[in-house]
Amino acid sequence: MNDPRAALVLFSGGQDSTACLAWALDRFARVETVGFDYGQRHRIELDCRVAVCEQLRAGFPPWRDKLGDDHRLDLSLLGQISDTALTDARAIEIGASGLPNTFVPGRNLLFFTFAAALAYRRGLSVLVGGMCETDYSGYPDCRDNTLKALQVALSLGMATPMTIETPLMWLDKAQTWALAESLGGEALTELIIEHTHTCYLGERSQRHAWGYGCGQCPACELRARGYDAWRANEAS
Ligand code: ZN
Repeated sequence: MNDPRAALVLFSGGQDSTACLAWALDRFARVETVGFDYGQRHRIELDCRVAVCEQLRAGFPPWRDKLGDDHRLDLSLLGQISDTALTDARAIEIGASGLPNTFVPGRNLLFFTFAAALAYRRGLSVLVGGMCETDYSGYPDCRDNTLKALQVALSLGMATPMTIETPLMWLDKAQTWALAESLGGEALTELIIEHTHTCYLGERSQRHAWGYGCGQCPACELRARGYDAWRANEAS
């Protein structure tokens, strides 16, 4: 399958966006990546981005020539409009999406809008994101309808077709592992285990069957459960 269009993948260095990147590399003629630096409490995801791209280039020759520039946008200004815990007595809590409760509502609307402006300049017409209703249905800016509406707004506002693709929208975590395996075999699932990061606590000293992380936080639990379910499905 080869789509002549060029895509920009919203790439955080986590499991989901790595699966999305592989999906895009399998499908589109050219792929670039963008990451947002918004003062994440743990910088480790941003470091993982670089390692994942290097590993994809090294291990997947058909994808090497398609994988183009990586862009990193400084969105530290988001701190100015978030309800910052520095000035608020509330404790920082991590919501189900992996974002602190101090974060900007509608974050993905902003991310996609910045990505679209970058894509326009780079001649890319598809935006790919790892949003998922199955796990994060509580987050209105991850919903399929929200992103369909945004796709229309971006296409009208830029007077050019701008497609938003969310290949994980209706998949659970076990199905995301299965998708990765179907795209890149065991080499890709091993890459995801070794080099992606999802733990909320930024913990990478413990290696589990499903990868590195504290093993306790909601992100680790979700990843571990999905991995176990995928392995169980494979065995049956
Ligand atoms: Zn964790």
